[in-house]
Amino acid sequence: MTTMGFSLIRWFLIGFLLYLLYRVIRSSWIRTPRRRRKKPGDGTVEDMVKDPVCGTYIPKSQAVTIKEGTTTVYFCSQKCADAYRQKPG
Ligand SMILES: [Zn+2]
Repeated sequence: MTTMGFSLIRWFLIGFLLYLLYRVIRSSWIRTPRRRRKKPGDGTVEDMVKDPVCGTYIPKSQAVTIKEGTTTVYFCSQKCADAYRQKPG
């Protein structure tokens, strides 16, 4: 009689299938918030811009801006913006 061996394999298969089902349900239903990597242009992480006058990096929202045609130039302070404006060329 091989009934014992057959049932063991069957239980093993059932267990394996339940495990797979558990994995699928877990991954699709419970979305564990993973640590998101900082992507450039993601929107969540603020862009840092470089001041061309003094070379300081500042967050875009805090920067003093000057529009030069289609491009925007960012500065750490109004002082640097003025210096850039007064620069010949
Ligand atoms: Zn500056």
